[in-house]
Amino acid sequence: MAFIEIEDLRKSYNQFEVLKGINLNIEKHQVVTLIGASGSGKSTLLRCLNALEPISSGKVKIEGDVVSGPGVDLNKLRRKVGMVFQSYNLFPNLTVEENIAVGPIKLLGEKKADSIARARQLLERVNLGHRASYYPDQLSGGQQQRVAIVRAIAMRPKALLLDEITSALDPELVAEVLNIVRELAHDGMTMILTTHEMQFAKEVSNLVVFLEQGKILEAGPPSQIFENPQQERTREFLKPIIEAGRL
Ligand code: ADP
Ligand code: MG
Repeated sequence: MAFIEIEDLRKSYNQFEVLKGINLNIEKHQVVTLIGASGSGKSTLLRCLNALEPISSGKVKIEGDVVSGPGVDLNKLRRKVGMVFQSYNLFPNLTVEENIAVGPIKLLGEKKADSIARARQLLERVNLGHRASYYPDQLSGGQQQRVAIVRAIAMRPKALLLDEITSALDPELVAEVLNIVRELAHDGMTMILTTHEMQFAKEVSNLVVFLEQGKILEAGPPSQIFENPQQERTREFLKPIIEAGRL
């Protein structure tokens, strides 16, 4: 039994089928990167995995438990699976440490003092200890995104979904966010991510999944997908990226 099992997952918006039968198994501690053209369904797939979108048919299982379809315990699911988005979505009226502590206090029933103490520890780990009592708008985009990642981690998730988390950042701020993802990977966090940073994807992923119009066209280790793709369409997708020197 894989840690996350996706079985014939389909998702339609009205008549339009966006995900057309996705089958994918993800093992614990794996880092899986979804690549594919804009509109291929990467974000929709991530959103279906933590039930931000109801799926149309198929199944998602985590540790053998079905976590899709009616009757899912959303709170339980989202404690297991955290998500970070392109826009950081921090609470503007809470300090950095409060942003991080509020989930564990409200959803995990942690004591406020414990939760704040842990928030500070986690902030130290991403070199933001000195910003604990700042408000989000007093931080750079890269710093806010690091806080958003820490906020997800504070919930002690078993897996993290990261949807283009560096896409809104100025180029000089991308590295500081990717470094955290690298460290999480090193610590064994199971992650499913989408990114335009192909070089990073190549370095950090165990499995790369190429989506094309809502289907998995090709999946394999980064060495296969990036250096020896089996499908013509994968080669076509990667060609301009390679030519631009981004791989
Ligand atoms: P990607 O993240 O790969 O760019 P998305 O998952 O965002 O792709 O989108 C896949 C397709 O689903 C696109 O054609 C998009 O227009 C459509 N789509 C996404 N969200 C919605 C929605 N809420 N309502 C209708 N169509 C949507
Ligand atoms: Mg997207």
